Amino acid sequence: MPTPEELQQRRLEREVSARKQAEKLLEEKSLELFIEAQERRAALDQLKESEERYRVIVETSPDAILVIQDDRLAFFNGAARRMLASAAAPPQPDAGLEQFNLLADAARADRHPGQPVETSALKTDGSTIEVALSSVPIVFDRQPARQIVLRDISDRKRLERQLAFQATHDPLTGVANRAALLEQLDDTLAYARRHGVPVWVGFLDLDHFKQINDRFGHRAGDRLLETVTSRLRALLRKDDIIGRYGGDEFVLVMRGGAADALGPTLLDRIMAAVCQPVDFDGYALAVTCSLGIAGYPEDADDGQLLLERADAAMYRAKESGRNLCQLYNDEIHARIVERTKIESALAQAIERNEFFVLYQPQIDARDGTVVGAEALLRWRHSELGVLTPDRFLQFAEQSALINRIGAWVLAQACSACASWHAAGHRPLRIAVNLSVRQLNGIELIKLVDDALQATGLPAACLELELTESMVMSDAELALDTLGALHQRGVQVAIDDFGTGYSNFAYLNRLPLNCLKIDKQFVSDIEQPGGAIVTHALIQLAHSLGLTVVAEGVETAAQLRVLREQGCDQIQGWLHSKAMSAQEFLGMLRHYEPSSWMSEVSARKMSA
Ligand code: C2E
Ligand code: CA
Ligand code: CA
Repeated sequence: MPTPEELQQRRLEREVSARKQAEKLLEEKSLELFIEAQERRAALDQLKESEERYRVIVETSPDAILVIQDDRLAFFNGAARRMLASAAAPPQPDAGLEQFNLLADAARADRHPGQPVETSALKTDGSTIEVALSSVPIVFDRQPARQIVLRDISDRKRLERQLAFQATHDPLTGVANRAALLEQLDDTLAYARRHGVPVWVGFLDLDHFKQINDRFGHRAGDRLLETVTSRLRALLRKDDIIGRYGGDEFVLVMRGGAADALGPTLLDRIMAAVCQPVDFDGYALAVTCSLGIAGYPEDADDGQLLLERADAAMYRAKESGRNLCQLYNDEIHARIVERTKIESALAQAIERNEFFVLYQPQIDARDGTVVGAEALLRWRHSELGVLTPDRFLQFAEQSALINRIGAWVLAQACSACASWHAAGHRPLRIAVNLSVRQLNGIELIKLVDDALQATGLPAACLELELTESMVMSDAELALDTLGALHQRGVQVAIDDFGTGYSNFAYLNRLPLNCLKIDKQFVSDIEQPGGAIVTHALIQLAHSLGLTVVAEGVETAAQLRVLREQGCDQIQGWLHSKAMSAQEFLGMLRHYEPSSWMSEVSARKMSA
């Protein structure tokens, strides 16, 4: 049995141990508390730090950040100040978003969270700036608020507008480009149908514009185009459309009122505006224009068709001598129909054997001998009869067909000439017309080599005729090609000489043999001053060491003048029209140069 002292001892021991335990517990607890305290402090520091960081971000943000509370501007950052206000006119906290005219936009952004609203903000100085606005609810000073972020998108918007402008406008003149023009024409026609008003489409083409470019350079051409468009713009009504359709082609879309007719005065004024000279580096550049007009509803009721018809009328104006305005009419319509017939049949014409070549004699002007012939292409069209090249060649030139046709003519002509040689008429020369697409280097050289080889015709008996504009369209290529042909002994003639701008610098560099004086100068020869032109052309040719052939000689009087002026050869109806190779041979057999000369001279005497 424990003594009372022993019991007391045990109780104390228990108490000490409990105490110890309690103390330990306490100790542990206080450590926890300490740690907790420590953690709390760290978190607090972090919060401070993140608040600090937030403050820095907000202040350095390039976006404007505004906090709106109770319709007031509770806070705004530096970017907001810079973007929307100036030192002289700072933001007014009480005026809220209204001062920036953004109330409705902010409400819209609230309805579509995550989708910024693109709008323009009113600055305190009264100007505007394009912004993307987004809005998020936040707590600010323990109160609900809205944070508005505005991003400056004016640069992007300007680029977008520039892109849109470029996509729809001609960069040089600033008028509608082709695509935009077609769209605007359709819109105009839709309006015209609804309101029963007429619309006129004008197709305007500058005459001989290429020559301005060739002669004065592209800067001059550009200046001319710019000036012409600004004059047209000044002349037409605001809702009329001007579009640039191609290099020197413009389309005008003019909307009439209910009782309007297209006045001749307006058309005259359009033509006059174009023709007025344009000053360029001290030169007065002058062009004329050909204008074709088709009207809705009488000529067509569809945009594409109206354009085609205005274009056809413009072509008619060009054919009638340029510097003219032509309204679409039945005759032009018939020509379009014909054109379709020609274009569709052209591709098969070679295979169907519908082409043939006629030969027009070239005569020595001094003694009347036949020195050669020019090959002239003809087409026996199944419906339209025999066509001369001016009816169909332009369509062939728009496609690669011209190369096939040209190759065919060259082969025919060489073989006809070789057959005359074989019949004893040496050394007759054959002249073959080239078209611009044929003046293409290697291909032409090979073609000529093949034709000469196949027929055995000496190179010196082949003459190729080309025009100045053909040479100028790619002068370097022309020089190379003609140089190679010249080396082979092939002769080169400049056709229609004097009808375009002559570039004498190139004339000198080209390996030429012959100049052909255009028939227009020959037919003018008896007019006052006419003989001076042919005289000058002949002198020029001779000073360059070239032979001169006068074309289109129809009368004995023309021949007399040309002979007096020293012209070397003539070609024309006075001697004969073009004939088949067979007929040509027949003519040669019975031909007496001296009797032809005296017969013509007698005609001259009696005339
Ligand atoms: P061009 O080279 O100026 O040919 C002369 C044109 O004048 C020919 O017309 C000819 O028939 C015509 N002509 C000849 N003598 C007289 C005359 O005394 N008075 C009048 N008023 N005219 C006369 P055509 O045959 O209709 O040829 C027209 C044009 O077609 C030619 O003009 C030539 O540039 C081109 N051409 C003809 N054949 C070919 C060819 O095979 N290839 C190419 N690329 N073009 C050709
Ligand atoms: Ca010719
Ligand atoms: Ca000619």
